[in-house]
Amino acid sequence: MSQSQTPETRYQEQTGRLAQAVAAAGRPPGSVCLIAVSKRHPATAVRALAALGQKDFGESYLDEAIEKQVALDDLDLNWHFIGPIQSNKTRGIAEHFDWVHSVDRLRIARRLNDQRPATRGPLRIFVQVNVDAEPQKSGVAPEDLPALLADLATLDRLEVVGLMTIPRPDPDPAAAADAFARLRALRDAASTADRPLSMLSMGMSGDLEQAVASGATHVRVGTALFGPRD
Ligand SMILES: *Cc1c(COP(=O)(O)O)cnc(C)c1O
Repeated sequence: MSQSQTPETRYQEQTGRLAQAVAAAGRPPGSVCLIAVSKRHPATAVRALAALGQKDFGESYLDEAIEKQVALDDLDLNWHFIGPIQSNKTRGIAEHFDWVHSVDRLRIARRLNDQRPATRGPLRIFVQVNVDAEPQKSGVAPEDLPALLADLATLDRLEVVGLMTIPRPDPDPAAAADAFARLRALRDAASTADRPLSMLSMGMSGDLEQAVASGATHVRVGTALFGPRD
């Protein structure tokens, strides 16, 4: 990525790249939501992308996110929380976000449910899955997913919409493709008529094509849109 690129050329390049991946996968135009991951980038960078038509933004750090939301209060944006969740941050997340992609345990989910303001709709939840079974990594183990989903179904201020994953870093794109296919299979196996799971949050700057080919409904792109983070 060259330094001379402007936000506008980067945005056009990435929306074009996503549209091409969607078409190559034989999926309908517009069927994949692009989440611009603005963590560690200033509110001015978010505003520049919003002016080009971007609506969905992803943040990983609560305090930083709230600061930007306040500065951008005049815009109608959709905010997605995608970072690890500490229990002392659940209230702020439940109050300031409509989507959370990183729920991986019941205790945190209960707090989000209890703290979701009555004046807002249910909080939309992706359950994060550790598909590569990496030690020390966020995400529920695949074998523990069915029990967690059953517990989450009892929390009426949460709407579980699907699954999210971050594959193990691997230079071979086939490894990410394999992880994405496994997340999709887990989603398909867990989805029922009573509790449909229609969404898959997967794919980042380096692997969005593989994710879209495997059925991603939400891709989370930071670096390719905003440039490198500090
Ligand atoms: C930072 C982050 C991204 C964006 O990663 P890039 O490689 O910069 O596109 C996506 N998802 C999560 C969960 C992240 O923390």
